[in-house]
Amino acid sequence: MMRLPPFTYLAPRGLEEAVRLLAEHGPQAMPVAGGTDLFPNMKRRQVEPTVLVGLRGLRELQGVTADAGGGLRIGAGVVLRRVVEHPAVLQRFPVLARAAASISNPQIRCMGTVGGNLLIDTRCNYYNMPYWWRRAIDFCMKKDGDTCWVAPGGRRCWAIASSDLAPVMVALEAQVRLVSVRGERTIPVAALYRDDGIAYLSKAPDEVLVEVLVPPADGLRATYWKLRRRGAIDFPILGVAAAVRVAPDGTCTAARVVLGAVASQPVRSEAAERVLVGERLGPAVIDAAAEAAWKPAKPLDNADLTLGYRKAMVRVYVRRALREVAGLPALDAAPA
Ligand SMILES: Cc1cc2nc3c(=O)[nH]c(=O)nc-3n(C[C@H](O)[C@H](O)[C@H](O)COP(=O)(O)OP(=O)(O)OC[C@H]3O[C@@H](n4cnc5c(N)ncnc54)[C@H](O)[C@@H]3O)c2cc1C
Repeated sequence: MMRLPPFTYLAPRGLEEAVRLLAEHGPQAMPVAGGTDLFPNMKRRQVEPTVLVGLRGLRELQGVTADAGGGLRIGAGVVLRRVVEHPAVLQRFPVLARAAASISNPQIRCMGTVGGNLLIDTRCNYYNMPYWWRRAIDFCMKKDGDTCWVAPGGRRCWAIASSDLAPVMVALEAQVRLVSVRGERTIPVAALYRDDGIAYLSKAPDEVLVEVLVPPADGLRATYWKLRRRGAIDFPILGVAAAVRVAPDGTCTAARVVLGAVASQPVRSEAAERVLVGERLGPAVIDAAAEAAWKPAKPLDNADLTLGYRKAMVRVYVRRALREVAGLPALDAAPA
């Protein structure tokens, strides 16, 4: 059995106190929301905070609010189950409910939060392993070692961004509000991430993610397709978020195609989007967009199933997602 290391748990009553505690305790402190990502990672000694600042008591992080303009505000502390069931989410952004429903299992969806999901650690076959296993390979660059075993000659870590909500939030052009003792800032979800398996967030360690702001859909049709070995529990080994806006004459006026779990951050396929905008979304245009997304996608050999298969599935899943938002009949299987 893997045990948690000793740590001090602090339970602030409000946001102001939480950010002060994080600033006071510096790099040895981390926020914890549901703990469904952090605690397993601490058990494997992938992260070793000595102080945890609990966010569950913070009212500021709670609630889902539908604004008059058609947008949505989702508190970072809202649990995934609430996203799956919330009437305003289902009415305005069913794609968020679908992506949240695909995360893990019912128990974890009752504990895991939206903020925690957007900030989960990057994953890799050489990293998400018990301490003794990692020690046996002399560790890896992401924690305690020097070498990236995925690309041993290289100088960077290739651990994968594995959040299911992140690609969807990027496709919806959502923003996040971050607060620290230095003040607050609101940035696009896309700007929260960096293409580096170790320093994968632009968020400072003492910043708390308070809420996600989803702009009005304004006719946007969106979907999320997730590839994984099993139909439950597993993290994505490919996620495709697609969103399009179509004019009354059938022309696509806006498109977002975002890939998850192929790099250390969600990847927007601008090449695929360019193929779609200005065109009618028929089978040939969609096939060309899927081809454009597939070509540059470079999954590496650091997740479940083979990288060749995962790459091939980029084309298949982008095509499936785009056919769905275009209202074309499905060619093959239903989403996982
Ligand atoms: C068996 C299993 C299967 C899983 N499957 C999936 C899956 O399919 N898809 C998926 O996306 N995830 C999956 N997860 C990961 C995780 O359960 C979810 O992503 C969950 O939503 C994480 O939220 P949390 O509140 O538990 O985060 P925590 O574990 O509490 O935190 C995660 C990280 O975010 C930071 N953090 C949390 N909230 C805030 C905040 N408001 N401000 C600043 N920092 C914050 C923490 O410091 C930590 O670094 C799985 C986990 C397990 C154990």
